[in-house]
Amino acid sequence: MSRRQDTENPSSEEPLLAPTPDMIVRIAQGLLISGRGMAVFAPDDSIRLATEGFRTLYDMQPGAQTFDSLMRHCWQTGRGPRIDTQDIDAWLTAAHLKRRSQPVREFEVDMIDGRWLWISEATLPDGWLILSVADITSVKRREFRLATDRDAAITAAETDHLTGLYNRGATMKRFQKLVERASGTHETFCAVLIDLDHFKSINDRFGHDAGDQVLVHFATSASAGLRGRDILGRVGGEEFLILMPGADMAQACAIVERLQAHVWDQRISLNGVALRYTFSAGVAQWRHSETMDQLYREADQALFAAKDAGRNLIGRAG
Ligand code: GH3
Ligand code: MG
Ligand code: MG
Repeated sequence: MSRRQDTENPSSEEPLLAPTPDMIVRIAQGLLISGRGMAVFAPDDSIRLATEGFRTLYDMQPGAQTFDSLMRHCWQTGRGPRIDTQDIDAWLTAAHLKRRSQPVREFEVDMIDGRWLWISEATLPDGWLILSVADITSVKRREFRLATDRDAAITAAETDHLTGLYNRGATMKRFQKLVERASGTHETFCAVLIDLDHFKSINDRFGHDAGDQVLVHFATSASAGLRGRDILGRVGGEEFLILMPGADMAQACAIVERLQAHVWDQRISLNGVALRYTFSAGVAQWRHSETMDQLYREADQALFAAKDAGRNLIGRAG
């Protein structure tokens, strides 16, 4: 393998480690030709050089300018960088505390027109400040798109597609978190396991699609009847788990009774037939040092007792 040659006639000289004055001139010329937004501020913050790219980005008007006059102009006209303040004097005071506070500062700026810039400010020992701008709009757009896609993927992975509730995995994850949080506090909570009664016969009489409608109906009714902090998930075919942070046994049972009455009061029309359905529930209140599995088992046993006692009932654990 031959080594790649970057130039036709490579110089025999070793590249310089530090730029000489004539090399500095070439660097400056190259940067200016590159079209990059650049500005040079004197120690008194007057602008002594501003490239065309910089002038356009900051809507720079002809005539002498300082950092302050330029920022005031952008703020007053709503052009250039987004300056979210009611008080431009306070904003400038805060900006000056940061400007020249370190040899190199780099930060993002979002523009009124939706673009994003990466600003690099280099402060020389004598107080001159060299600012250069890179447009990072495409990178930011990709970043936002990735974040949005990631959020959508997480939501999809945690959602039960029929009812729109949390699926089993997402519900159990929140259950575990609730146990961990409660362990460190004096707060209690209740786990309520719900199973629709005689659901198989609804499917058998009206068909599977009608059964699906009942599941959606229950999910909607239960969501509407719960408090903002409560967590509702579908943990099985016609089984649901409600987690009620801060609720004791009496409070949880009152909420479930209300939900039972609400579900009973409604009729859903399935193939022209008005149907009433019921559910049974098992309620367990968390006690200190109990694990999630123990609490789930208690709720399950209480649910079984409610079924055994005739259905459309609430079983209480403990
Ligand atoms: P019980 O009162 O003892 O709970 O009786 P059940 O008929 O509700 O209980 P069983 O466990 O015998 O039947 C549950 C039924 O739920 C059987 C299954 O076909 C149905 N099922 C499970 N998932 C779905 C679903 O996503 N859609 C529909 N339509 N039915 C489902
Ligand atoms: Mg079941
Ligand atoms: Mg059932």
